[in-house]
Amino acid sequence: MRFVSTRGRAAPVGIDQALSTGLAPDGGLYVPASLPDLRRSLRPGPPAAVARQVLGPYFAGSRLQGALEAICADAFRAPLALRPLRGPGDHVLELFHGPTAAFKDFAARFLAGALQRLRDEQAPTLTVLVATSGDTGAAIAAAFHDRPRTRVVVLHPDGGVSARQAHSLGCWGPRVDSLRVAGSFDDCQAMVKAVLGGRTRDPGGPLTSANSISLGRLLPQVALHAWAALEHHRVHGRALGLIVPTGNLGNALAAWIARRMGAPIGPLALATNANDTLPRLLRTGRHWPHPTLRTPANAMDVAEPSNLERLRHWVPSVDDMRTELTAQAVDDESIVATIATAAERHGLVPCPHTATALHVLQGLRRAGDRRHWAVVATAHPAKFDTVVEPVVGQRLAVPPGLQAMLARPAASTAINADAHALAARLRTLGA
Ligand SMILES: *Cc1c(COP(=O)(O)O)cnc(C)c1O
Repeated sequence: MRFVSTRGRAAPVGIDQALSTGLAPDGGLYVPASLPDLRRSLRPGPPAAVARQVLGPYFAGSRLQGALEAICADAFRAPLALRPLRGPGDHVLELFHGPTAAFKDFAARFLAGALQRLRDEQAPTLTVLVATSGDTGAAIAAAFHDRPRTRVVVLHPDGGVSARQAHSLGCWGPRVDSLRVAGSFDDCQAMVKAVLGGRTRDPGGPLTSANSISLGRLLPQVALHAWAALEHHRVHGRALGLIVPTGNLGNALAAWIARRMGAPIGPLALATNANDTLPRLLRTGRHWPHPTLRTPANAMDVAEPSNLERLRHWVPSVDDMRTELTAQAVDDESIVATIATAAERHGLVPCPHTATALHVLQGLRRAGDRRHWAVVATAHPAKFDTVVEPVVGQRLAVPPGLQAMLARPAASTAINADAHALAARLRTLGA
């Protein structure tokens, strides 16, 4: 399988190179040259087994082909759960049973396993740079902290993440360096880009990034949605619609790819917060991002979804896009109201991101929709305790994995919002 750039002006590469590189040389994003149709061969099974089926064709001819089974077994060892909710045909797909209690854990572990195996025994330590507003950095730190020959440097805006999020960035021991930057998330991202782009003095060792444009973050997520749809089809003999909380469009695009590859997924509904670039694109045909708004669902505070370029590669016309999926923005008040009433109406307490999807489900049911749907639960509510607890008026039980993480000591280092300071830090770490 070859991988091409969305901008079409870079030479096709194999998956090993597409995984190790972020952007293609022409500034585009790598996508598989084709999406294999597995309609006739897909079988339900444990998540790791479904992952092997859906990812197998992409790794044909890769140096990782022989290791794919082991990489999947490791990346998908945390359980997934598809549970019925209180209304007829209503379900929740829980993707938050990994080490940092968010769905990003699965793909982060897959990427870590793949990159580790693509490096030679004698290769110098690889430093993975991540700018984060919370969940991504924690998932990457958790996934890489126990890998030989790799190190993670996470940058977050000082004071810009919750206490639990800050803890989850700095509690992974000596291979993870947590830097709190005197600046914004955009400053963090600019520092990472400047160092990766060679605009500072040599940081002294090989670097890569693990942000949402990496193909190694996107493809493994296809398995999550394929697993759920196959499981549902096995029990009910019918397709499952998915409602996906959406920020950078990685998780939702993975669901779309799973359906294209033949998983029994019905309609796809995207739920955004007040950052409504996608719903407006579908409504008006115009791509016109507003400045980013801060919302209670902060892991989705994205005005320019980076994976939109991939979706448009496969579905260039907005008319066609409207037949493939729907998208709805959910305002802050509706997020809070949904959290407040979800226990009684649905029988679960959602995180603020999951609440956007529940709100969309409520609208569908009110309009008389009778299909089977699963709301995709992207994080455990206890991870967003400062938002959820005041709304539901009670303390949330913290799941054991999150408890273990919070019990470990955490440390971080203050740094100026300056790429040269970051390069100097990397040199002292001996990158
Ligand atoms: C990252 C994240 C999202 C958004 O997922 P995308 O793939 O960026 O669309 C939603 N919910 C949670 C909890 C997240 O961490």
